[in-house]
Amino acid sequence: MNIIYPGSFDPVTNGHLDLIKRASEFFGSVTVAILNNPNKTPLFSLEERKELLELSTKDLLNVTVDTFSGLLVDYMDEIETYIVLRGLRAVSDYENEMRNALANNSLDNRVETLFMVSKTEYTFLSSSLVKEIASYNGKIDNLVPKAVEIALKNKYR
Ligand code: ADP
Repeated sequence: MNIIYPGSFDPVTNGHLDLIKRASEFFGSVTVAILNNPNKTPLFSLEERKELLELSTKDLLNVTVDTFSGLLVDYMDEIETYIVLRGLRAVSDYENEMRNALANNSLDNRVETLFMVSKTEYTFLSSSLVKEIASYNGKIDNLVPKAVEIALKNKYR
């Protein structure tokens, strides 16, 4: 069975990758789906985020990376996948995730959301934190894959 892991991935971090790896062991395939959100101004373009995710997951043969615009449930129907993967780091994630899961299920009752709990070492990790540290030239090599580290250094140079 395929599972979809949607998000902004601006950029992908080791926390995201941990979830992708773990999910790829339980599910036949994982589609990582990058949302093209016109309400947000990302640091990395959609193409850049896709390339960084592809580079970081190239050894996981059942993982593919795609992009989508519009409602998640419409994209899910298009690719005939009805399970969403989301990560929970702390209680603060819960409210927003709960709202999205309920909204998606009310839009399409075939859609179920599964949550995976982040590993303790990644609980504090987010794309925005990584960007902030990188913007001050801080050490991020243990937080993101090599390709992302290089891409961030180039952005903030
Ligand atoms: P979004 O804007 O959709 O929240 P993100 O790229 O920030 O996109 O996150 C995508 C998903 O990955 C979310 O479910 C988020 O909770 C999860 N996630 C982000 N960082 C981590 C982490 N360090 N450990 C586990 N899950 C994470």
